[in-house]
Amino acid sequence: MRDMKRIGNDRVTSIGLGTWGIGGKEFPDYSHDREAIEALRYGIELGINLIDTAEFYGAGHSEELVGEAIKPFDRDELFIVSKIWPTHFGYDSAIKAAKASAKRLGTYIDLYLLHWPGDSFEKIKQTLHALEDLVDEGIIRYIGVSNFDLELLRRSQEVMRRYEIVVNQVKYSLMDRTPEETGLLEYMKKEGMTLMAYTPLEKGILARNKCLEEIGKKYGKTAAQVALNYLIWEDNVVAIPKAIRKEHVKENAGAMGWRLSKEDRERARLCV
Ligand code: NAP
Repeated sequence: MRDMKRIGNDRVTSIGLGTWGIGGKEFPDYSHDREAIEALRYGIELGINLIDTAEFYGAGHSEELVGEAIKPFDRDELFIVSKIWPTHFGYDSAIKAAKASAKRLGTYIDLYLLHWPGDSFEKIKQTLHALEDLVDEGIIRYIGVSNFDLELLRRSQEVMRRYEIVVNQVKYSLMDRTPEETGLLEYMKKEGMTLMAYTPLEKGILARNKCLEEIGKKYGKTAAQVALNYLIWEDNVVAIPKAIRKEHVKENAGAMGWRLSKEDRERARLCV
């Protein structure tokens, strides 16, 4: 089932576990903690080693839940992603924010992303330099960005001093193929960077697509699995669907370990 991709020198599963809404949205929500922890643990038991969270999610509670969920597992086998919100950009506040995230997670962060570009390139630069120092300190292991277009990504790469930007997490789904259309995906491939696709199921809409369901029949796969396989088909793409329902977690994990034919991948594009 495992279908691995490279991030830096690490290998992560092509499907990760998203956590937006797990532990709350803008504010903490403690009412589904047990269910959330179980869903994350179930995903890990199925072999998924990539978990995506952010300081913004549930105002930190999502990170706390991820920290709790991973406790029974071998930490070295997992790859935890978190993100800094633009209000914390700047050298000192970035150091502080990363340490606070690591504390909530109860562990180091494998990949730390600038969640959105914010409004100042100078602040992005200071933050990236802070992240390089955080790598040296062992608080984070890799540096990445999120929601950066091609031009901003290139500019950001130029200011790096000792480490590389290894990931750009952007919205990418069969219904929103902006990374293909803008050349971002192709550029990242050439640079050896991983594109982490968020909202890959368009909040569940693609799971209900009859045309994708039809394509999936040949493979014994569902519409959701076809939609996710479309994305991870590329060598440098991983997708991070969010699911709190165990049957969804299992279904999403089943998007790995097989491959749509080139023709069916083309057909899938015409389904949306
Ligand atoms: P998504 O993964 O496309 O959709 C999540 C929704 O789809 C949930 O309601 C989930 O239901 C449902 N779902 C999951 N698997 C399903 C399946 N197999 N069949 C039917 N429905 C299914 O959207 P998302 O949460 O926006 O994106 C995924 C992750 O990307 C987020 O959780 C977050 O970690 C990350 N993200 C990052 C950014 C950024 O700015 N960097 C922005 C947005 C999202 P249940 O939960 O009820 O199972």
